[in-house]
Amino acid sequence: MKIYILDAYHPAGVEYAAKHFEVVRWDDPRVKNWHEDADGVMVRMTPIRAADLARAKKVKVICKQGVGFDSIDIEAARSRGIPVLRTPGANSEAVAEMAMALALSATRRVTELDRMLRAGVKFERPNILGIEMHGKTVGVIGMGAIGSRVARKWQAAFEAKVVYYDPYVSNSGFEKSEKVEDLLTRSDLVSIHVPLTGETRKLIGAPQLARMKKTAVLVNTSRGGIIDESALYEALKERRIFAAGLDVWEVEPPPKDAPLLSLPNVVGTPHAAGGTFETQERSSLQVAMQVVEVLQGKPPQNRID
Ligand code: NAD
Repeated sequence: MKIYILDAYHPAGVEYAAKHFEVVRWDDPRVKNWHEDADGVMVRMTPIRAADLARAKKVKVICKQGVGFDSIDIEAARSRGIPVLRTPGANSEAVAEMAMALALSATRRVTELDRMLRAGVKFERPNILGIEMHGKTVGVIGMGAIGSRVARKWQAAFEAKVVYYDPYVSNSGFEKSEKVEDLLTRSDLVSIHVPLTGETRKLIGAPQLARMKKTAVLVNTSRGGIIDESALYEALKERRIFAAGLDVWEVEPPPKDAPLLSLPNVVGTPHAAGGTFETQERSSLQVAMQVVEVLQGKPPQNRID
């Protein structure tokens, strides 16, 4: 049997897969024909659509590194009886830490100051002040694996008051907001950790941004498309909110001339929140183990239902 690896993977998973089955890697020209030849598929960002699955002759399992699965047509896979697996939890800590890093870079204007320093700009300190987070209110949208870590970190390190919006979670130990609008009105920092679904697409648009404090910071490490980028651009440009920290974008990677990247009060990273040495090794190995198990006839782990 053959495992096709559609995207670059950490060697830990590649080596594990190769010990058990024949492997076709992302840098092998044969990889384009995975549909016809693969028994197992390891994937990161390459989209797998209904048309790809329609061509899949003998695929028995697809495993995606990470948690988000909007790049795979789950319905089409289900209708063909192909289990799609993922690696929940493998990068939660890394993403939570990046959400903190983006938030603090935005509140303390770290990248803005860094750019000024490198450009030799003379600055007067009173004109470029940051915001302290101690004791502030942090609004967490989506209280899952990542959101709950972020909440605990703000509470533990900054004695922040945490309020969350998540219609599907009610016993998180933090104060629940029944309406996203109420959370937006109250929060000094809004940190977004929801999957991209029909319900969450454009969850934060112009009306929601209008509710936020002028001193508030918005952080998104979940998915582009959850925030309306043109509305966010207007709000940041007119200083109706203080700053934003963004790891995810409507178009990825965002073009160099993306309007948001022209603003000094935006801190951006290129969908890099899960990218630590620790997560890449851990999740690569987890993907390979889950694929090998299914090909050995064992029940699929971490299947997306
Ligand atoms: P999770 O499934 O553990 O948590 C998601 C939470 O969102 C759940 O508690 C769920 O109830 C909640 N939710 C769903 N719909 C909602 C809605 N309409 N309103 C409010 N809450 C809603 O997932 P996770 O591991 O915490 O990851 C969250 C998201 O982060 C993923 O879906 C993924 O898209 C994204 N992510 C990004 C990166 C990155 O590199 N930037 C890495 C990992 C995950």
